[in-house]
Amino acid sequence: MASITLNHVAKHFGNKVAIADVDLKVEDGEFLVLLGPSGCGKSTLLRMLAGLETVTSGEIHLGGRRVDRLPPSARDMAFVFQSYALYPHMTVRRNIAFPLIMRQFKWWFHIPFLGGLAKRKIERSPAVRDLVEKTAKTLSLTEMLDRYPRTLSGGQRQRVALGRAMVRQPEVFLMDEPLSNLDAKLRSAMRAEITRLHQRVGGTFVYVTHDQVEAMTMGTRIALMRDGVIQQFGTPREIYTSPANTYVARFIGTPPMNLIEGRIDNGTICIGKARLPLPPALADVAGDNILLGIRPNALSLSDASASGGGLAGTVSLVEHVGAESVVAVKLSDGATAHDEEGAVPGEIMATVQGYSDLQPGAAVSVGLDLSEVVLFSRSTGQRI
Ligand code: ATP
Repeated sequence: MASITLNHVAKHFGNKVAIADVDLKVEDGEFLVLLGPSGCGKSTLLRMLAGLETVTSGEIHLGGRRVDRLPPSARDMAFVFQSYALYPHMTVRRNIAFPLIMRQFKWWFHIPFLGGLAKRKIERSPAVRDLVEKTAKTLSLTEMLDRYPRTLSGGQRQRVALGRAMVRQPEVFLMDEPLSNLDAKLRSAMRAEITRLHQRVGGTFVYVTHDQVEAMTMGTRIALMRDGVIQQFGTPREIYTSPANTYVARFIGTPPMNLIEGRIDNGTICIGKARLPLPPALADVAGDNILLGIRPNALSLSDASASGGGLAGTVSLVEHVGAESVVAVKLSDGATAHDEEGAVPGEIMATVQGYSDLQPGAAVSVGLDLSEVVLFSRSTGQRI
């Protein structure tokens, strides 16, 4: 069993708290993504799992075994880095075989001629050759086995790095932003490749990224981190549809979720002069300090003269992005978009299908699909 359990794990670098106090249970065979902005502590957490960093306090268990005091080599976890870390003077075949050769390491492997002979003997043994070739086939590297890393593209090099991790047949794969050096097109191809690899190999994967698209498409669950604290741990769908707080709500989704200030009075949501019926699922909620969260695609825009209970506003910007248009709207009639990092004060964003003919300055009525609304406390930021 390759489940991973973290009990009260913390990491301090001097006075700096990189990881505050993390409890986490990753199930066997799961694809966990550690997601968050630069500096939130995701690499530190991964490095503690690998044994490349000590824990300041707490315990890490792999299956039933406590591993936080064990050296990396005793943990049965393979690490794939952003920078590939291939040996330039070795062929692809030798790079992939390398962990298997090192498993049989003897001190005299360092002796130039003798060591070379011994390594070659291991590399050519049927067991190692079969495993290397099987791994290369899985990753479509068979044709490249006798080439050197410098003759490969970034994506091919990353596949070799994956092959070197796979050949050890570890229980756990740890990956730290393995795709961040690739261009956008290759990144999306490799994303699918790693997902397929996970399905085929069936091990437990822990994957660090700051890219929400990678997290949403690859993860079976996501731990979204900020300042060394896990903000939410859930499936991509849970994180998208039921964010635990306004930070999670704004981190996932492009453009991010809109947050509009309001209050709830007798089953009615009051936003400026507008009055909207509270959806039945939120019937028990009341309060003066509410933030109403709604995704841009749950908004609709119509001519201001049309009647129909929307929020009044004026278009300030229209961006056409192929299949849809993103429209920024400045709210009026007392409605206030909550000021958030990265947002233009007072504006909300709507995505509409197709090519929008709206022009900046147009008066619009913003309709809300109330079944998609999520409510937060304005004082704590937590979901209600
Ligand atoms: P990035 O995506 O930029 O790599 P991250 O989320 O992986 O960021 P970490 O590298 O884990 O973040 O760093 C978390 C915090 O701990 C940062 O504030 C960082 O400066 C600090 N930190 C990391 N390693 C050390 C170290 N060896 N000594 C001191 N501070 C460190």
